[in-house]
Amino acid sequence: MIYLDNAASTQIHEDVLNSMMPYLKEQYGNPSSIHRYGRLAHKAIEKARKQIAALINADPSEILITSGGTESNNTVLKGISGKNIGNKIITSLIEHDAILEPCKKLVEEGFIVDYLHVDHFGIIDPSELIDCLTEDTCLVSIMFGNNEVGTIQQISEFAKICNAKKIPFHTDAIQAVGKVPIDVKALGIDFLSISSHKLHGPKGIGALYIKNDMNIDPVILGGGQEYGLRSGTENVANIVGFGKACEIARNNLIENISYVKNLRDILVEKVLHEIPEVTLNGDPKSRLPNNAHFTFLGVNGEDLIIKLDEYGIAASTGSACSVNTQRASHVLQAMKFSHEQITGSLRLTLGVFNNHDEVEQTVSSLKIIVEELRSFSPFKEKYSFGLKA
Ligand SMILES: *Cc1c(COP(=O)(O)O)cnc(C)c1O
Repeated sequence: MIYLDNAASTQIHEDVLNSMMPYLKEQYGNPSSIHRYGRLAHKAIEKARKQIAALINADPSEILITSGGTESNNTVLKGISGKNIGNKIITSLIEHDAILEPCKKLVEEGFIVDYLHVDHFGIIDPSELIDCLTEDTCLVSIMFGNNEVGTIQQISEFAKICNAKKIPFHTDAIQAVGKVPIDVKALGIDFLSISSHKLHGPKGIGALYIKNDMNIDPVILGGGQEYGLRSGTENVANIVGFGKACEIARNNLIENISYVKNLRDILVEKVLHEIPEVTLNGDPKSRLPNNAHFTFLGVNGEDLIIKLDEYGIAASTGSACSVNTQRASHVLQAMKFSHEQITGSLRLTLGVFNNHDEVEQTVSSLKIIVEELRSFSPFKEKYSFGLKA
């Protein structure tokens, strides 16, 4: 199999798995216990917290460990809205459902949510934020890199605007952490969400960076773990694996970026050259190094994925989450794509475990599959596919 769905989840790194094993076997103590088992588990968590913090240049005391990206996003939205510092939230039309759904819930509770627009490349204009920002805004949440089309926003601009007005700024950086260099201090970020399984760590674990002068209400009450913000006995093995994954990502960041970006660029170049009537979506420059998102006009993206799977290639139409809800991508709708363009879209997301041969094989399979699917297409007459002069 050729795995090109690294935006949905990633292969666990061998060293990550090995680092977790002792905590699934002999090191089973409760980190809150006073005896040696407890102390060892506690130490392991604090080591992981340092590894997570180092990847984004945070202080370990600013890292709240959660059950993953979804919980981190929910925690900041619910934790800030509970503080009664204003009833307006500003976010964007292209956020992940883990932002959009809690926002919907907050609207039911009386909050006002403004959604910033995007251009055809998926870029949000920071000047729209300036126009929307009011005194009663309690949080601005703008994603770092989009999970479908890969567009990267001007995060430091948004943060600067918020910092000047002392309004908390959050970014869902789940697709970006470990893929692009991120320094929360230099960028002026107050809250940032991370997910372990998007960076070769285990699933069901993540973190919320909370700048030391920021305050939120706890979402889960109980024994007072995680600074009293998130009670519950810690998932020690997953935390250790997550920490290890962050350490590996940090140590190899620059090499990995250039390796993956090079593969992605070859893939894009070949697809655009060798297959007619195809476009690359998202911003051509300001994008995640591992993301390629195309529209093949006259093809149904879901048929394409089923066919690719038969050829041993794992791909996606966009976000794995939208598949459950069976609706057209809200991201592509916000980018003003036509129904046809949305239908024909395909996301290929690469990772460090992919290689050049896989890219070549993917392009040649795509060529055959797209041509075959187009020969059955109802739009066949409309676009003279393959008849490029
Ligand atoms: C994957 C993802 C999430 C959800 O993270 P989980 O750890 O799977 O809950 C949220 N936002 C973005 C942008 C993502 O890509």
